[in-house]
Amino acid sequence: MSTLPEETPATDPDSRPDWDVVVAGGGTAGLSAAVFLARYGLETLVLARGKSAIHQCAHLENYLGFPGGISPERFLALGETQAEHEGATVDDDMIESVEPHDDGFVISTQEGREIVTTHVLAASAYDGDYLSAFAEDLRTADADDSDSDHEFLDTDAGRTPIEGLYAGGWLTDESVHQAVTNAGDGARAALSLIRDDLTDRYWAEIGDIYVDWVVDADRYGGEEWHENVDGWFDREIAPGAPDEMDDETLAEVRDDLKTAFLDRGITADERDRRECEGQRHLLDALDDDVIREYVAEIDAD
Ligand SMILES: Cc1cc2nc3c(=O)[nH]c(=O)nc-3n(C[C@H](O)[C@H](O)[C@H](O)COP(=O)(O)OP(=O)(O)OC[C@H]3O[C@@H](n4cnc5c(N)ncnc54)[C@H](O)[C@@H]3O)c2cc1C
Repeated sequence: MSTLPEETPATDPDSRPDWDVVVAGGGTAGLSAAVFLARYGLETLVLARGKSAIHQCAHLENYLGFPGGISPERFLALGETQAEHEGATVDDDMIESVEPHDDGFVISTQEGREIVTTHVLAASAYDGDYLSAFAEDLRTADADDSDSDHEFLDTDAGRTPIEGLYAGGWLTDESVHQAVTNAGDGARAALSLIRDDLTDRYWAEIGDIYVDWVVDADRYGGEEWHENVDGWFDREIAPGAPDEMDDETLAEVRDDLKTAFLDRGITADERDRRECEGQRHLLDALDDDVIREYVAEIDAD
């Protein structure tokens, strides 16, 4: 967990958003959302404390990528490391209320913090009480679930009817209650937020095509690639541009888009560096005794 940053009191006339996004909840949905949001470049704070589904699981055995299973604690620790590695901040604090604010939302927490944020992404499983200021507009659905007291937020790909407020994971009616699908819900809600941000900054056709991946450095670029992208942009993307946009601005947007594609390319050296760094993070998460035992087995071989 990182140290707490200074936040501007929401009542201060100079108050400005402290964060682009605050993610409520550090379970599989919240941490997965944070990875996508931070990689897109949004200042992302995850606040996590309180009731959690995953802590009730004895051993997580059906999350892809962990043959033999993984303890929920180790799983979440890896998720936190990944979110922080991508640039998000993860803090131990509980959200008590979220209220509307000129710059988006103001969040009050159990530790007495007052945080101004442009967006909120709620991924707090059983606890949505802090959203009561929006109760009238937030549709809730009674899910067909044994947990009959629980009301689920009615979302559409993680979007709620409140502008700037998104939700994912167990908290929503889109949830199938499994960790791996809830990770997908968090990612989907984050992608909806990102695509809405791009739609506001450019237009819908640009928002719709956003994806997050890296490729080998030589995959994009070169004369033929530039010609193909220019043609595709003119056919598929430019027709959605605002009518008043002039040709010069349109060309700038096309170049921005190309730069975004080109920035996804990584060299073989960089790929190897990332692969090694990733393996070290995995080793960090393992018990030293297990590593020593394994090394002894390698040495014996
Ligand atoms: C008994 C049991 C066993 C399970 N076993 C499995 C299994 O084996 N395999 C499987 O795939 N799934 C299993 N699940 C389901 C799985 O745990 C959930 O689907 C998944 O954890 C939901 O992810 P989430 O991120 O939506 O919520 P959670 O993982 O519950 O995360 C919610 C987060 O929100 C935080 N939070 C809550 N309120 C606030 C607040 N006000 N402010 C800040 N933070 C807040 C919590 O501390 C937590 O960090 C099990 C569930 C239960 C109940």
